Amino acid sequence: MHYEGTIFRPPSEADSLLVQVTVGCSWNKCTFCDMYTDKKFRIRGIDEIKADLKEGSRWRNQIRRIFLCDGDAMVLKTSMLLEILETIRELYPDLDAVRVYATATDILRKSHEELCQLKEAGLEMVYIGLESGSDKVLKEVNKDITKAEMIAAAQAVTKAGIRQSVSIISGLGGQDMSREHILETADALNQMQPDYVGMLVLHAGNDTDMFRKISEGTFRLPSATQVLTEMKLLIENLELEHCYFTSAHASNYIDVRGRLPQDKQAMLRNIDRLTELVKKREAI
Ligand code: SF4
Repeated sequence: MHYEGTIFRPPSEADSLLVQVTVGCSWNKCTFCDMYTDKKFRIRGIDEIKADLKEGSRWRNQIRRIFLCDGDAMVLKTSMLLEILETIRELYPDLDAVRVYATATDILRKSHEELCQLKEAGLEMVYIGLESGSDKVLKEVNKDITKAEMIAAAQAVTKAGIRQSVSIISGLGGQDMSREHILETADALNQMQPDYVGMLVLHAGNDTDMFRKISEGTFRLPSATQVLTEMKLLIENLELEHCYFTSAHASNYIDVRGRLPQDKQAMLRNIDRLTELVKKREAI
């Protein structure tokens, strides 16, 4: 297998075969993210990708899922993605799923028919980085997308039968925009109706504008109390019909998880208990 630079994947893809179809992220300008700043974006050649898939198929009996890296595999033309998915189907006939990171911009470039073709060819779920539902926060962090576009992209994949896992970032609005950030995020998620929500905590990479702001003192990372306050406000305002919520990402201080809507009250009680513990610790 050939890998260029550091490879990132969602926590839930820990057991998946990782295959790079792009190197880096085609946008690469969000102010908090340095995942791919060491890479110059390019789409790998189809022959290189097929060679990796062929090599990986030696272990096909142990592989249940394939995750296509890097930052936004949906940037590929649909014809190329279909060729990759068809190759996967030939080489891994018993595979459960193929998943990718996808930007809303890339999803919206594809027609309903194209998304249906991708679903039919094996694309089971996309990971979308919403980060915030607030247009002000999205603009501030240079995400190059609006809340309305995020919602439209999520609804487009769902309409094609592709599942969506959405990540959001606690603390991204700083202290000043904390409430707006969370209420707008809850509203966006309610319209997106994702299958999974992953709540991360802001950790600006060393090589980012956000890190410089934190160093200068013009932006403050969220405290454990702020994360809990945001998580509680978010969950109180979520009206999700079939979602698994988790904050178990490595960036987070607190592991709260459960099914929504059925576990909502238990999760809120858990957050209250954790908040009491944090307050006691801060008082020592
Ligand atoms: S957050 Fe996502 S879209 Fe933004 S630069 Fe990082 S990988 Fe690219």
